Amino acid sequence: MNRFRFTFFSLIFFFTFSSAFSQENNQKILDDLFKTHGEVYFTFSIFDRSEIGTLTKIISLDNVKGSEVFAYANRTEFGRFLELGYQYTILPSPGSLLQESELNMGGQKRKPGSTVVWNFYPTYDQYVSYMVGFAASHPDICRLDTIGTSNQGRLILAVKISDSVNVNRAKPEFFYTSSIHGDETTGYICMMHLIDSILSGYGSVQRITNLVNNYQIYINPLANPDGTYHGGNSTVNGAQRYNANYIDLNRNFPDPKGGPHPDGYAWQVETKAFMHYDSIHHFVMSANFHGGAEVINYPWDTWSRFHPDDNWMQFVSREYVDTVHLYAPAGYLTDLDNGITNGYAWYSIEGGRQDYTTYFHYGREMTMEISAVKLIPANQLLSFWNYNRRSFLNYIEESNYGINGQVTDTLTGAPLRARVFITGHDADNSYEFSNANHGWYFRPIAQGNWDLTFTCIGYVTKTVHAVNVTNRHTTSLNVRMVPVNYGIVEVKSKSSLLLYPNPSKGNFNIQIPESSAGNYPFVIYDLTGNQVHSGTIYGVGGQTPVSLDFTFLPKGIYLIKLTGNRGVCQGKIIIQ
Ligand SMILES: [Zn+2]
Repeated sequence: MNRFRFTFFSLIFFFTFSSAFSQENNQKILDDLFKTHGEVYFTFSIFDRSEIGTLTKIISLDNVKGSEVFAYANRTEFGRFLELGYQYTILPSPGSLLQESELNMGGQKRKPGSTVVWNFYPTYDQYVSYMVGFAASHPDICRLDTIGTSNQGRLILAVKISDSVNVNRAKPEFFYTSSIHGDETTGYICMMHLIDSILSGYGSVQRITNLVNNYQIYINPLANPDGTYHGGNSTVNGAQRYNANYIDLNRNFPDPKGGPHPDGYAWQVETKAFMHYDSIHHFVMSANFHGGAEVINYPWDTWSRFHPDDNWMQFVSREYVDTVHLYAPAGYLTDLDNGITNGYAWYSIEGGRQDYTTYFHYGREMTMEISAVKLIPANQLLSFWNYNRRSFLNYIEESNYGINGQVTDTLTGAPLRARVFITGHDADNSYEFSNANHGWYFRPIAQGNWDLTFTCIGYVTKTVHAVNVTNRHTTSLNVRMVPVNYGIVEVKSKSSLLLYPNPSKGNFNIQIPESSAGNYPFVIYDLTGNQVHSGTIYGVGGQTPVSLDFTFLPKGIYLIKLTGNRGVCQGKIIIQ
């Protein structure tokens, strides 16, 4: 606190003088520091953890060890940091510490039987040809997806691995993505190795065959190719954290607390590509790989309250770490609480993809920090693979455990998109939806007995009590829902609105899709066609439902008709 007190008690003229002096001085520091680099890596000390809340909005925090903070900044960010008056030390860039020879660039070898020995860093072109090759050599179980294109025109690629690779079948979708921070490359090579080992193990290794047959696995080894190949396509030497615009992509996502642009920057092309990819899938679980620490970090990063599935998150993180500890030297993956941490408890960030995916896409994503050194020598890559490879599989398998099943119309058998809500438990978008095409839902959850409530517009809300779950097992729960509007009402709009609970005592919620936010004039008719009430609601869209209070109406069956920007939507409501 001393630095503040000194300024506070100084004379006005001195303050004015020193502030003008320091501004000029800061410009010189910035000119020198950013002459050849677009980002800097540095360390400084804080007096109190409460300072983190301010700092995280200004610079990109990378690690906090007690009072010692490690961070990155571009020129603008560092300029704002300088104004805070901290003493700092500039550190060498973690992506430029190794000799070229230690990277074994492009030095691939094949074992007999054609598996690649993953003890080298591929060039960018080699990376692309491996990704193309994975799909080309296993077209029955592997498909190549282009998630998008980076600022500098590099490809952001993923492979999908499943026995039903070209259709979306009733199996959980799972996503691994690595190296959104371009200089954190251990996960990049581990993911290449994982793809290779799943494809080559299919049909011969029982556990791998089960995975391919029962899951839809998506793997993106390199989320920020411009950062990783900042030094050129032929080397990862010179890899940087940020993208080509010197923006931290893992602070650039919409945030449940910080809003659409928590970092103050427009969404980068890479961010938009991942937002799109998340929206065309529903990843039941996912993880993004990092380096610079050794810890599994689970939601939330943005706020201090726990995710409703905190117990489950701890269980899954602990399972990952405990398995690693059986196969790694002592001391590996033991940061914070022996290798796991709640994100906010470590240090808060806004705009990370973990919270974005978990909140806005009803997912469960963790941030996996798997090597204290960000860019490890190539001759250590196989060791890190061996420490983590079993846990990579454990974690994927968890997406099929908990409760799953199919929701259908009891009369027609048609699949339904219903909200699957754990009564007295779910909050902050922790609930799930069944898939509109096949009616299946997948709900990972901790061991225990749970009450599930299924809601779907036009259907009687259904609650199933005391569904028993044990760890690492699947409890099947198929649900058939009874239409309330059978034979009477048709829904005329293209996009249906979710209204729940129905029947109710007169209080209803309406959920309006994000794309259809706006004013909705509505009219309520009784069954003889007389208008009994009218009004207008404003739907913000997304996950925030609009509450409607019709408790003043007598018990009975009514027709509600809403007019929105996509057309008319109507349905029956029952007041009991
Ligand atoms: Zn990182």
